[in-house]
Amino acid sequence: MAGNPRSPKLPDFVSWPAFPFEGDFRLKPVADPADTEPPRRGEEPGDCASCASGDDAYLWTNERWRVKSPPKPSGLPVVVILETRAHLDLGDLSTMHSAELGVLTVRLERAIRSLDSVARVHVCRWGDGSAHLQLWFLARPKGHLQLRGPFMTMWDDILPPTDEQQWREDLSYIAAWLNDTD
Ligand SMILES: [Zn+2]
Repeated sequence: MAGNPRSPKLPDFVSWPAFPFEGDFRLKPVADPADTEPPRRGEEPGDCASCASGDDAYLWTNERWRVKSPPKPSGLPVVVILETRAHLDLGDLSTMHSAELGVLTVRLERAIRSLDSVARVHVCRWGDGSAHLQLWFLARPKGHLQLRGPFMTMWDDILPPTDEQQWREDLSYIAAWLNDTD
């Protein structure tokens, strides 16, 4: 019997071990494309939360870059966000900024991966949220194989928050690592 086009087959990933949910699913209808793209958060520097934040809100800063974490621990051991100091998006970066982004990305990955509790680090940039460039570093806890892959951002919200004292120590370690090799 031909499938009903209004009830498309569910994608294979709903049966992957990493998919955080189980049960009966139904796909949402796909919305029609919008005529115009809406502005993102902080499209203008004057409305940008990153530009309005002082260095004391960050773990580490230098002349052109700043590193912060979300304000509270979440399910993953650490989540760290790398931003430009200036109001720039990825495509706005100069050659110098681009080169430094590469160096800092590798340095942060190494720092986070060297934590005892961390097996892997995922590096992500989503273009739809903040207009100010943010590169996210998400640490997968060691041994938690079920968290492998693209659903880890969901697990970050599902798992109980990591111990706050350990979280603070790990963030301090990352900041010290960046200072050591700066
Ligand atoms: Zn900004």
